[in-house]
Amino acid sequence: MDTNKNYGGLDCFKILAAFLVVAIHTSPLSSYSPEADFFLTRVVARLAVPFFLMTTGFFLLPDYLFDHKKEYLPVWRFVKKNLLLYGAAILLYLPVGIYAGHYNDLDGWSFFRMILFDGTFYHLWYLPASVLGVLLLTWISRRMPFPAVMICAAAGYVLGLLGDSYFGLIADVPVISSFFDDLFCVFSYTRNGAFYAPVFLAMGAWLAHRGKVCKWGVSLAGFTLSLLLLTGEGFLLRYAAWQRHDSMYLFLLPCMLFLYQLMLSWPVRAAKWVRPVSAWIYLLHPLAIVLVRGAAKAVGLTTLLVENSLIHYLTVCLISSVLAIAVTVFFHWRRSRKKTFPQDRAWIELDQDALRHNVDVLRSLLPARCELMPAVKANAYGHGAVLICRELNDLGIRAFCVATAKEGAALRRKGIKGDILVLGYTHPELFFLLRRYRLAQTVVDLSYARLLQQYGRKIRVHVGVDTGMHRLGERCENVAALCTIFRMKNLKVQGIFTHLCADDTRDPVQKQFTEAQGFAFYELLTALQENGFSCPKIHLQASYGVLNYPELSGDYARVGIALYGMLSTKKDTENCPKSLRPVLSVKARIAAVKKLYCGEAAGYGLDFVADQDRVIAVLAIGYADGVPRNLSNGAGCVLVDGFVAPIIGRVCMDQTLVDVTGVPTVKTGDIAVLIGTCGGKTITACDIAEQAGTISNEILSRLGERLERQVIRRPLQTVRKI
Ligand SMILES: *Cc1c(COP(=O)(O)O)cnc(C)c1O
Repeated sequence: MDTNKNYGGLDCFKILAAFLVVAIHTSPLSSYSPEADFFLTRVVARLAVPFFLMTTGFFLLPDYLFDHKKEYLPVWRFVKKNLLLYGAAILLYLPVGIYAGHYNDLDGWSFFRMILFDGTFYHLWYLPASVLGVLLLTWISRRMPFPAVMICAAAGYVLGLLGDSYFGLIADVPVISSFFDDLFCVFSYTRNGAFYAPVFLAMGAWLAHRGKVCKWGVSLAGFTLSLLLLTGEGFLLRYAAWQRHDSMYLFLLPCMLFLYQLMLSWPVRAAKWVRPVSAWIYLLHPLAIVLVRGAAKAVGLTTLLVENSLIHYLTVCLISSVLAIAVTVFFHWRRSRKKTFPQDRAWIELDQDALRHNVDVLRSLLPARCELMPAVKANAYGHGAVLICRELNDLGIRAFCVATAKEGAALRRKGIKGDILVLGYTHPELFFLLRRYRLAQTVVDLSYARLLQQYGRKIRVHVGVDTGMHRLGERCENVAALCTIFRMKNLKVQGIFTHLCADDTRDPVQKQFTEAQGFAFYELLTALQENGFSCPKIHLQASYGVLNYPELSGDYARVGIALYGMLSTKKDTENCPKSLRPVLSVKARIAAVKKLYCGEAAGYGLDFVADQDRVIAVLAIGYADGVPRNLSNGAGCVLVDGFVAPIIGRVCMDQTLVDVTGVPTVKTGDIAVLIGTCGGKTITACDIAEQAGTISNEILSRLGERLERQVIRRPLQTVRKI
C-alpha cells in the first residue's frame, strides 16, 4: 500500500456513503413508495457503514493482520481519536437525547450497554464498534495467521446475521433463541464491534495487503450482480418477516468486496478536505435533523420541510454539509494556528531540494544494482534522523544504517520503513530491540556471533569483516570463523560488509591499501561461496569510497557525509568532481544589540576588550547547541544581514557574542546565520571544521538536541519531479 497515493475514489464514495446514512435516518422516499424507500434505506444504504469500516481496515490494519507488527502506536492513536470523538459526540447529543427521553429508564447495566455497544444516540454505535472491532482484530491477529483471523471474523458475522436479518430463522428454535436472548441483554443488536465490524475491517486490510484490484469491468459486474442478489435477499427477508433488524446480509459481503475495488480503481483525485467532511456529515446529521425540524416548526414550514420526505432529506443533507464543512474549516484553522514556532531561538533548516539533488547525484554514481543505504547515525549527522529518513523514504530509499539499536528503534517508532542496519555494538540486554523493531545487527566478530546465537531467537544480521581498519568485524583471513558464523541457526545473515579506512584519496599508498582491502573482501566472498554459503547483500563503500573507488561497489553504498552535501574537509569538498549541496543551515536569533564603549571588556574572562566604541550582538546559541567553543575570540564568525560578524569573547554554553559594528541595519530579533547562506555569503560546516581544527562530520554530528529541525520545502515549480 502506498500511503502517498491519493485514494480519491475512496474519499468520494465516503461522501456518498455519508449521505446514504442520512437517508437511513430520514427515509427520503417514504412519501412516495414504501418499497422504494426500503430499497434505498435498508438495502443500498447498508453499503455505507461497511465502507467506512473497510477504509479503516485498509489503512490501519494490514501491518498487524499480515506482518504481526508489534508496534501498536497507530492503533492506540486510532483508539484515542475515536474515543475522544465519541466523548465529544455523547456530550453534543446529550441534550437532544434527554429531550427525546432516550435515557429515561436507564439503570447501571443498560447504561454500560449503551456506552459500549449501542451508542448513546442512534448513529453513535459506529464509534465504539470500530474501536472494539480494531482492538479485537489486532488482539487475535497476535495469535493467529490471517486466514484464521478471517474465519473468526466471518463466523462472528454469520452469528450476527442470525441476530439481525435472519432472526426469523432461529426465533423459534429453543436453545438458540434463548442464547440470543442472553446476547441481547448484553447489547441490543448484533450489528456492533464484535459481530459486524471485524469482517469488514479484515476485508479492507486484505485488499490493502493484496495490493492489486480486479479489473474495473470485473468489479463492476461483480458489484452489480451482488447488489441484485442483495436486493433479492433484503426483500425476501422482509416479506418473510425474519428481520429483527436490517443491517446485516449475506450478499453484503461480496457486494462490499467488489464495490471497494471499484472505488480503489477509480482514478479520481480528491482534495484533502474531502476526507474529514464525510466523517463530520456522519456525526452531525442528527443535529441537522433536529435543526431542520425545529426551524421548520418555528417558521411554519413543517408541511414542506418535514412532511415531504424527499425535501426533508435534501434539506438535512444540505444543513449537514454546511455543518461538516464549517467544522472541517474550524479544525484546519485551529491546527494552522497551533503550529509550533521552531524559529524562536536557534534552529536548523533542512533544504529538501538540496537533499534530493544529492540523492540524485549519488545515485547517478552507483551502478544499477547498487542502492543507497544512507548513514543516518548520530541523528543523521545532526540533521534530524526522523526528518531525513522520512524524506529519503519518500524518495524510495529503503535501507538505512545507524550506530545503535536505540537509534534504529527510535526511527521505527516514528514509522520509518525499510531495512535498518545497526553498525555498532549492541549489548545482549538490548537484543530484544533488534527483534521488536526489525533491525539488522552487525556481527562484530565470532565471539559476538555466539552471543547473538545464544539469544535463542532469530536475529537479522550483516556480518562485519575486518579487512584492515581493525575496528569492528571478524578478520577476513579467518575463513573458518566466518563459516561458523554463517552456519549459526539463529543468525539470519542478510548482508556482509567491510569498511574502507584510507579511501579519501587515490594517492599511491592509500590506493594500494584500499585495493588490498577490496581484494581481501572479494576473496573472502569467493571462499564463502566455495564453502556453500550463498552470498547475501554486500557493501564496502562509504561516501569517499563511492567517489574515489567506484570499482569497489556492491549491493549497497553506506553514504553519510556526501548525502548531507559535503565531504569531511573544505579541500575535499572543493575538489569533489560532483557538485553536492549542503542540506543544513544553522540560524539563531539576535537576543540583544548593545554598545560596547572603548576599553570595556565583553564575556567570560575579559578576553575581548573594545579598542574603540563598538556594537555587539548577543546570539541565542552556544556550545551546548554545538557551536565549537574554540571558535571563541575571533576564530569563527557568523553572518548578520549579509555581513560577516566575528565572534568575540568566549562562546558561552547558551549564548555567543558577535561584533556587529559594521552592520548598519542590525536589531534585536534579527536572524544570524552560523551555517548557511545570507546575502550572497556562505559559511559551511567545512569552514567551521577548519576553524575548529576538526572535520565537518564532527561539527554536524554534535549539533545539539535543543535545536529544532525543520524541512524547508521549495515552491513547487523548483522541486524535481519524482
Ligand atoms: C559512518 C559510517 C559510514 C558513513 O560514512 P561517510 O564517510 O559519512 O559516508 C559508512 N560505514 C560505516 C561502517 C560507518 O561507520
